[in-house]
Amino acid sequence: MSEATVPLYTTVCGTCNDRIRNPLDGFCHTCDTFTGTSHFVDVHNRPITFERWLELREDLHYRILAESVPNAADGWGIRTCWTGQIDTWGSDLPFGTGVFRSGKVVGELTMWRDLAAALHGHTRIVSWMRLHPGIPPTRDTLAEVLP
Ligand SMILES: [Zn+2]
Repeated sequence: MSEATVPLYTTVCGTCNDRIRNPLDGFCHTCDTFTGTSHFVDVHNRPITFERWLELREDLHYRILAESVPNAADGWGIRTCWTGQIDTWGSDLPFGTGVFRSGKVVGELTMWRDLAAALHGHTRIVSWMRLHPGIPPTRDTLAEVLP
């Protein structure tokens, strides 16, 4: 009896016929052909390998896109990050903005589809926090400041 396990999403590379070793990123690790099924993207929404995603995650200058403190006195902060992950149930929102207080996320993360939307959203959330000190936006209230 074989001890080898068959990964859930194993596919075979259409170019070299080798087995794709990490189907979550969709790249053939033998010939580097991309099969179009990556769950990882770079900051420009281009598919990347899982290994590259891990590298980029370690780089805080890459990962953190914007940080703001609308009012230093009240202890709130806003951080917008690239997460680089596209989830498996069809949402492709690899960016997120969190509102922090004392280093902890308060309220829900707001997710974004691309870099431009993330930076625009960050600016709007900063505007919101300036107008409503101490009250993180929700999905509904954010609609007031997001066109
Ligand atoms: Zn291949």
